[in-house]
Amino acid sequence: MNTNLSSLSRRDAIRRTALLGAVAAFGSRFSVTSAAEAPGAVSLPPLGYAYDALEPHIDAQTMQIHHDKHHAAYVANLNKALAGAPELAGKTIESLLSDLETVPEPVRMAVRNQGGGHANHALFWQQLRKNGSHGPSGDLAKAINSTFGDFAGFQKQFTEAATKQFGSGWAWLTVAPNKQIAVESTSNQDTPLSKGRTPLLGIDVWEHAYYLKYQNRRPEYITAFYQVIDWDVIAERFKKAVG
Ligand code: MN
Repeated sequence: MNTNLSSLSRRDAIRRTALLGAVAAFGSRFSVTSAAEAPGAVSLPPLGYAYDALEPHIDAQTMQIHHDKHHAAYVANLNKALAGAPELAGKTIESLLSDLETVPEPVRMAVRNQGGGHANHALFWQQLRKNGSHGPSGDLAKAINSTFGDFAGFQKQFTEAATKQFGSGWAWLTVAPNKQIAVESTSNQDTPLSKGRTPLLGIDVWEHAYYLKYQNRRPEYITAFYQVIDWDVIAERFKKAVG
């Protein structure tokens, strides 16, 4: 893998630009679309950094398979389902996941599983960066301290939620409409959006997210995950969610 310093800094610049674009686009239509795709089709958002950027914490092969195969499959399967529901074109995937009861029954399960998979992974890639960043800042830091006592208190709860999630799923830091933050977990590709809460930080604890490097040692993967969190992104999500 080509990782000289100039290409890394260029990638970082590209990533920042892509991130701003993705943030701007994510809330408007299904996702970033290209002219080659059917109207309303979802496209796989770019990883935004090199596959090996998160080494040694998350290995390049896992990142490549996770993004190019797993996330791509959620996107492809979601598009197959949406092709049969043209009335949903123009709605954001977040709005569909936030109100699953209104999604037509024939495509509801696909929206929940494949659409959830797409939305969750899009969030996942954007919140990670090489070497991580300093911890939470500003209003997010205040919310974490007042809710969990301190950052270590948050980590304890988040680690526990990620460790104890039985089978495939996610652990989350979320914010409710009343601006209260919480740690929670979901099964499969379910998203806190479906329970009226906004995901700020999510850890994927499906085995495909860590098995190549960590095998059955999920706690080691969770510990490593903390080393690559971009807290600036999380703080920005919090700011946007609480208005
Ligand atoms: Mn995954």
